[in-house]
Amino acid sequence: MKNKPVRALLIEDDPYIAQLIRRMLDKVRDISFDLVHADSLSSGLEYLEDEHFVIILLDLGLPDSSGIKTLNKVYAKASDIPIIVFTGQDDETLGVNAVNAGAEDYLVKGNTDSKSLVRAIRYAVGRHQVKEALKDTAANLKRTVEELKKANKKIVNQQKSVIEEERLKVLLQLSGATAHELNQPLTVLMDNVELMRLERKIPEKLQKHMQGIEVAGQKIFEIIKRIQTIPQENIDIDDSDNSTEALDKKISIMSVEESDADFKKISNCLKTFIQLDLTRSKNIKEALSLLNNSPVDLVLSEYFLSDGSGLDILKSLSDSKLEMPVVIIAGQGNETIASEVIDAGAYDYLPKNKISKKSLFRSITNTVEKFGLEKEIKLAKGKLADMSSLEREMKRAQIQLAEMSTRDELTGLYNRRYFIESLERELARAKRYKRNLGFCMIDLDRFKDVNDTYGHLAGDMVLSTIGSMFDEHFRQGDLICRYGGEEFAVILQDTSLKSATAVCERLRKKVSSHRFKYDASDFSISISIGIALYNNLVQWSPVELVSAADQALYQAKKEGRNRVRYHPDNH
Ligand code: GH3
Ligand code: MG
Ligand code: MG
Repeated sequence: MKNKPVRALLIEDDPYIAQLIRRMLDKVRDISFDLVHADSLSSGLEYLEDEHFVIILLDLGLPDSSGIKTLNKVYAKASDIPIIVFTGQDDETLGVNAVNAGAEDYLVKGNTDSKSLVRAIRYAVGRHQVKEALKDTAANLKRTVEELKKANKKIVNQQKSVIEEERLKVLLQLSGATAHELNQPLTVLMDNVELMRLERKIPEKLQKHMQGIEVAGQKIFEIIKRIQTIPQENIDIDDSDNSTEALDKKISIMSVEESDADFKKISNCLKTFIQLDLTRSKNIKEALSLLNNSPVDLVLSEYFLSDGSGLDILKSLSDSKLEMPVVIIAGQGNETIASEVIDAGAYDYLPKNKISKKSLFRSITNTVEKFGLEKEIKLAKGKLADMSSLEREMKRAQIQLAEMSTRDELTGLYNRRYFIESLERELARAKRYKRNLGFCMIDLDRFKDVNDTYGHLAGDMVLSTIGSMFDEHFRQGDLICRYGGEEFAVILQDTSLKSATAVCERLRKKVSSHRFKYDASDFSISISIGIALYNNLVQWSPVELVSAADQALYQAKKEGRNRVRYHPDNH
């Protein structure tokens, strides 16, 4: 069954070639193509103006534009659509240049059959999608980083004020600590005074004691200053104040309180705040079952309850995965309870005798803010994790992309494009260092028969096995590529005609003695090889080198196949 037709734009002036391509695409079994044909660059660009295509097939030599310019113009208009260009047989370099300028692939006119055309299209579309996905991922990553930075800044700012707040509160609650802090410099001070009294007559020692006193005094001064900046809580309950105050958002609170009188006190304190929704339960069990169904923004719980303590309610909430901040109120409160419940995860602690409209309001808003902040931090951490997985994904896509553009799918060998690029590079190098360069063109003999007799899948299996055999046979530095359907090309580094012939001869024997097994079939095949050697005497260009090896290959075929031949100029 064919899927949705693939919309393709063919820009090609030669009606014969256009017809040929249309017929090739019509032959494809599993994809149907909806081919739109434009016979000039200008009409092609017009189509691109108002229609969408999945792929563009572009002839670079058109009546109104030629060469790489043609690609540049199409690419400028449709960089989001993969483009495959056609080049002439004598101008493969143009194809390579086109790929470097943004085309996904190139095909050589006259060398292209239906299969390679479709493969190129599939590949181009696939590669293009990976590229686009990569772009998206990169943009996502950038966005996430920015969001994260923003969130981080906000958290740092808010955290600063929360930390300061916390510090002061602890200072206030545990006034014992303050006394302890003061005690040490005071002792030093007193010691120094005593020593001064004893050593009144030794001036240099006196000087030292004076300094000690100054340091200790400074310390005490700092501690006192800190205590003075602690905001004084209003301890009185001002019940006469009936004004209402608005919170900046709705807050729901559950009070867990057994005593009616105490609950009344709390609800009196809170009733002036509009947007504050107060519910009540009398013990831990009741609180849990209510909170399970309708969570609240904050739990305000008495420390001493009939079925447990403040520590028990903290534990039960965390066991039930109920994530809500808890503020503990204790009737006969003391510092031990305060630090105990804070350690166990309570957000705040209020002694009952200090409950006032103001202190409750402060504690509630602080707690809700702190809880929200922590949630934000968690979210940011999640984002960080997302980010590293995005990064991994991106790396994978990049590797895939790099592989896709240099390798042939079926055999895993280099593809033709990569090969042509390398050939130019290697030839330039051979020239510079005055080294030889061997070039072999290898073609499978009567391969059509393999397909016809054993089926196309058997043919594919042979190609893939041959790929592995070649890969194993040649040296590390040699470059092997699948040049076309059942044609392979190999660059042999720094070799002589004699050793190139020997290495090819060994390969030929190896292949012809191999038994290929597919399903119940068992068969063998042979290969023909043409060699051309670049050296001081024959300084071929890349095109000439390929054509020389082709001629040698043709000779091998002509003489009956399953043999190795080199170009006569190399003799
Ligand atoms: P010769 O000895 O003259 O080279 O004969 P041949 O049959 O090998 O040559 P020809 O060029 O007539 O046929 C090549 C065949 O290779 C035809 C084509 O279907 C097949 N072929 C090309 N690419 C693939 C591929 O990817 N998979 C399979 N199974 N067959 C392929
Ligand atoms: Mg063949
Ligand atoms: Mg062939």
